[in-house]
Amino acid sequence: ATPTALMVGTGRGAQLGILIKGPQVLESTRRIDTVVLDKTGTVTTGRMAVVAVEPVEPSRETELRRFAAAVEAPSEHPVGRAIATLAPPEEVSEFANHAGQGVSGVVDGRTVRAGRPSWVGHPGSAHAGTTVAVEVDGRVLGTVTVADTVKETSVSAVAALRDLGLEPVLLTGDRRSVAEAVAREVGIERVEAEVTPEDKLRTVQRLRSEGRVVAMVGDGVNDAAALAAADLGIAMGTGTDVAIAASDLTLVSGDLATAVVAVRLSRATLRTIR
Ligand code: ADP
Ligand code: MG
Repeated sequence: ATPTALMVGTGRGAQLGILIKGPQVLESTRRIDTVVLDKTGTVTTGRMAVVAVEPVEPSRETELRRFAAAVEAPSEHPVGRAIATLAPPEEVSEFANHAGQGVSGVVDGRTVRAGRPSWVGHPGSAHAGTTVAVEVDGRVLGTVTVADTVKETSVSAVAALRDLGLEPVLLTGDRRSVAEAVAREVGIERVEAEVTPEDKLRTVQRLRSEGRVVAMVGDGVNDAAALAAADLGIAMGTGTDVAIAASDLTLVSGDLATAVVAVRLSRATLRTIR
């Protein structure tokens, strides 16, 4: 491949809303056969809405909303951003993000944790969606369940990836029931759910060791290691800075359809060269 042709391809990418870190990236794009897709914020909108607030006792709902919203206020995660709207802003100190698990902090002198029920030590909710359990000073106050919807373009983008001969895999830290419902909706057969950020990395490594050439598409802090380990890391421009920094390519609009455009562009660019 001549550097000039790759430069032209890179420029064309920028016009199409695809920011490519270096001209050599287009060459790895061409060989991809597997596309691993993060769920929240990548296949789905990431604009979560609260669908249920369930305190352990009805009298404690205000308290549940208050501590949940306060501890999630600094969170960049779509789950956290939705929960932060449950009450007026309040100060939180010692905030910590536990990627793929939840958040913790101190609110009004009390230690608060909000995250996956298994992380907090709670059985969870029967509601459809992603349930976050909230604990104050070691005692569970209740759960908040959030849900988002599949992006309008995800169904056709997944079909187009298949048409290009690429196998899609859905990879998420979210619970299996939610992951499978999304996979069914967009037409993905292979699903890996309830994985930690380290497992996301391991999944990419495993697929590569099977001889696959893997693209990973993600938006979160929890996707960064997997994005960096993939043959091609693709970040959603709407996602976190960490994910963008770890990737080879950024889709400015955060639209999966642009990933399809990127694969087509690289193939066309390299054809021109030959
Ligand atoms: P995904 O792979 O779908 O992007 P993550 O790996 O980021 O999901 O998160 C996995 C799970 O960890 C979420 O479904 C949620 O249960 C929990 N979680 C992550 N961040 C937060 C947060 N800020 N507050 C509460 N729970 C969280
Ligand atoms: Mg995500």
